[in-house]
Order: sequence, then structure tokens, then C-alpha cells
Amino acid sequence: MPVDYTSELLKYYEVYETIGSGGFAKVKLGRHILTGEKVAIKIMEKKDLGDDLPRVKTEIEAMKNLSHQHVCRLYHVIETNSKIYMVLEYCPGGELFDYIVAKDRLSEEETRVFFRQIVSALAYVHSQGYAHRDLKPENLLIDEDHNLKLIDFGLCAKPKGGLGYELMTCCGSPAYAAPELIQGKSYIGSEADVWSMGVLLFALLCGYLPFDDDNCMVLYRKITKGHYDNPRWLSPGSVLLLNQMMQVEPKRRLTVRQLLDHPWVMKGYSSPVEWHSTRPVTVTLCIRVITGCTFIHFNINVSLIVNEQNTTVNNYRLISAYQKLIFSLQLHLIPVSTAQKPPYQSSEKRQGEVGQSPVIDQRKPRPRNTEKRERTRENKENLTVSSRDGNGFALPAPVTPVSSRKGRTGICHNATQAFTFPMLLRSRSLDMAGCQLDSGQKRKAGKVFGSLERGLDKVITMLTPSKKRGLRDGPRRIKAQYNVTLTSQTNADQVLNQILSVLPEKNVDFVQKGYTLKCRTQSDFGKVTMQFELEVCMLQKPEVVGIRRQRLKGDAWVYKHLVEDILSTSSI
Ligand code: ADP
Repeated sequence: MPVDYTSELLKYYEVYETIGSGGFAKVKLGRHILTGEKVAIKIMEKKDLGDDLPRVKTEIEAMKNLSHQHVCRLYHVIETNSKIYMVLEYCPGGELFDYIVAKDRLSEEETRVFFRQIVSALAYVHSQGYAHRDLKPENLLIDEDHNLKLIDFGLCAKPKGGLGYELMTCCGSPAYAAPELIQGKSYIGSEADVWSMGVLLFALLCGYLPFDDDNCMVLYRKITKGHYDNPRWLSPGSVLLLNQMMQVEPKRRLTVRQLLDHPWVMKGYSSPVEWHSTRPVTVTLCIRVITGCTFIHFNINVSLIVNEQNTTVNNYRLISAYQKLIFSLQLHLIPVSTAQKPPYQSSEKRQGEVGQSPVIDQRKPRPRNTEKRERTRENKENLTVSSRDGNGFALPAPVTPVSSRKGRTGICHNATQAFTFPMLLRSRSLDMAGCQLDSGQKRKAGKVFGSLERGLDKVITMLTPSKKRGLRDGPRRIKAQYNVTLTSQTNADQVLNQILSVLPEKNVDFVQKGYTLKCRTQSDFGKVTMQFELEVCMLQKPEVVGIRRQRLKGDAWVYKHLVEDILSTSSI
């Protein structure tokens, strides 16, 4: 009898409004019915995934094995004939990318707090034999305690021979890709990750990329030379660290291990980065529900299996749910863990805080797990990818030739296929169509974002009811958020008209729904290169017009420049 899988999801979760969307996924806020735990439910239509389906599988496999305080947690996967639902740890703070944009750039102190968390996540991921291969601020989400969670393991690799094994598939986003990757050479995944971390560190400290150009050939040339300019505000220590990470020769680069207690990383702290997982790794709770009778079954790896009418829910690792459930059943259970340290303790301490709770890990313990995925192609290094996994996760046969098709900014090519490289270059430059700015425009636009948003309260309300966003009499009234650009104007219709008049000259197609403009750019060949929303709304304090912006698809930095350009040209 065919199972109604949507109701399978609804059996465990209430599903609320859309909180984000990507190239192929829609992400909704959900709530675990039993425990009230908020979750993010990533919904993917299989027909839209096409050849990218193996990426989802790769990501799910990796996330099942990873459990770390700075890796977003995957709680639950439900697959239907047409859809894949990934139930994730909910991160209400949005992407680190938007946070940087809102602040222009971060101070060295704030950068250090985030960077220590990134180093912690990567040291752990590498220790588990994985390379991430797509590190960028869009793939780091901010949780409710302002801590980072790494997402998007769709391009990760776990070489059979260990991390020292050379990889051949070129993955990730061009601006963050290591020279050896874009040259199509074989490379060590962890070394390539350190390069990307260097680019990421630069983006945090500077608010722009070290290697950037609208022309992909020029961009690639800059990366392979490894030349970038250090802005005057960087401290000598930051300049040195960036230089040590962005070494063209991979063997001369710092390793993640060296980063753990690097003098720059240690400044103001009394201990190296804590990279061990503070979450139980192997705790899985098994519950079998048979005709109203509930058993709790535990062994060395306590695992949760909800069994109802032959429906087995695997991969259900909602640990806090498990804890609350145990509580509600009046049972006392100590999780069995193979974690190296007792759960929920961090040794992160800043100097002067010895004996106190660490500043960056003061949050209450909140064990979780995660996933994500990026769209590109076959991932040959992921030897776990098979046509069907143990959970009956059906996959199409991997496609060997790598085409130029890519989602967001991901690139991927097999070095043995020479034809793919120029195609990728072209694809990248096509992505730039309709959003080319000269450097003067960029500078002007950069100031607009910075000056308008500086000083805004960072009240983050991701729960914008999308249903209410349709046609309306007036603009929505919202609180200031960091993805809202504040204007000095008070007439929403005037602002809307100003934007509407500018979009055509920037080659932006749009559909208007009330005060929301669903925008997109296309290449000369009709490929959608960018999708984003601009919504004119009224701020509550101060009572001025704001423009909420949300990127749905396309390169984050190109999007940033384009939106800055639209807003500055609109004289807002
Ligand atoms: P895609 O893989 O299709 O690009 P993403 O995973 O990037 O989709 O999700 C799209 C958006 O949904 C993200 O930019 C983010 O705003 C939101 N999102 C994704 N995962 C979460 C999460 N765990 N918590 C909160 N928001 C999320």
C-alpha cells in the first residue's frame, strides 16, 4: 500500500512558514510535535535535483557521521517518491555572509571568536576523515546563541586512503577555491580547506574577497598567483596569518592543527581551540511503538526507531527530543557516548576568565546534528556513494562527464576531462551577466550598505510569514534585521517606484507582488544566474522605509554588488 509520505512528515513535525530557499530546496520552519523543538525542514523535489541527487546523498551520509557543536545537525531524513525532507537544527541567525555584509566588516576581536569556531569545526571534520571543500560564509549559519554551524556537506569528500589521499574533483566556489583546485591538479582536501579558510578570514576582516573579478580568467589568474592586497586596517598579525594560509604551494600552508594554537588565534585566550566534539557521537535512541505500547530500548549505541505499522524511521537523532522524551516518560537515562570528552563542556576560555564559563561557549548545552548539500556533479572521492543505500535511498547512476551546469557558485570538474574547465569558466562569466559594475560603482555601493545598516539593531526574525507577503494594501511593518537596508525616506510607494524604475536598466527581470519584487537575472542564453527578493517595508523604530533583501540563488558577492548598485542608483 503506498504510504503518504507527506503525512509521514506531519506525523512528527508541524510545518510552518518558509524561512529560506536555495537553488533546489525550500526550507521551512518546523516544530517537533513531541518535544516542541524548532527545526528547519529542507524540502527538495527529486525531479528538480536531477543529476545532483548524489550530492544530497553525500551530504546525508556525511552528516550522519558528524556530530559537533559547530556542525549543523541533521536530525531526520524522510524520503518519498518525489521528495527528500531533511530535518535540521534550526539556526535563526541566518548566514555569516549576511552578517558580514550588514556590518561592512568585522573587528579583529569578533573575527577571532568566529574564526576559532570555524577552526574547531574543520579540525573535527578533518579528524573524521572528511574534507569540506566548499567553505564560504554562506555555508556558516548563526544559531540562536550566536555560534556558527557549518552546513553544506554536499561537496565533501572522504578519501578511502585517508585525508592524505589526493583528490581529483574540483569543487567549491571559485573565489574560495585553492590554486591547485582551479588548476585541475590533484590535491589534498584538508590543504584546500585551509586556503578557503584564509579567503573566509579575509572576507570577515575586510568585508570583501581577496581574489575577485567579473572575468573568470582574470579571477583564476589572480588565485594561481596568490596576489592580493592587504588593506591598511589589518594588523601585522592578521596580515601574517592570512599570508600563512593563502600560500599557493599547499605544503607551505599552515595546517588546521597549527591553527589551533596559532598566536593570532590565541590572542586574548588562554587555551588552544577546543576541537573535540562536545556532543555524544553515537547516541541514537530507539523507540518502538507497537499498538500503543512504548518500549525504550538501549544498548551501547542507544538508537531511536519509531516503529508503527512497519514504518521505521531511521536516522532519527534528535538528541534533545530524546532527552525530553525520556523525561516525559519519567525515565532516567544517561546517554552512552563515545565522545572523547564529557558532553557539553568546552575548554574555550578567554584570558582573564579562568574558572568562569567561557565567553563564546556560554550557551546552555544543546546537542544536535545536521546536513546540507550543494548542487554539482558526481563526487568520485565519496566512495560511500552507491546506487542504493541501506535505507533504500534510491539514486540514479552517477553521471561521469561534468557539465558546466552549476547551482549557486559551486564548480566541479573532473581533472581528467579537459573540456569541462573552459566550460566552467564561461559559465562563471555568464553568471556575471547583467550585474557588472565598475570599481567606482562598487565603492559607492559598498558605502550605501554600510552606512545605512550600521547601528541597526540585530533583531533577527527569520519567521516572516510568507503567506502574508502577497498582495496587500500597504507595506509590511517589520523590525530592523540585518538583511534590511534602512532608508531615510518615509513614503514606501515612492521608494518602491524608485526601485521599479531602476531594475530594467540593471537588466533585472522582476515579478511584483504587492511591495515584494521577485527579481532575477539571466545570461544571454536564458540561464537564470541570480534570484533574489526585495521587499519595501516599514520599520517600526525608527519609522522609516526599509528594504528587506534575500538572496535565493546566485553568487553571494555578485548579489551583494548588484543589490548595492540597485539601491544606490535608486537614490534611496
Ligand atoms: P540550497 O542547498 O538549495 O541552496 P540551502 O540549504 O542553502 O538551500 O537553504 C536555503 C536557505 O534556507 C539558507 O540560505 C538559509 O537562509 C535557510 N536555511 C537553510 N538551513 C537552515 C537552518 N538549518 N536553519 C535556518 N535556516 C536555514
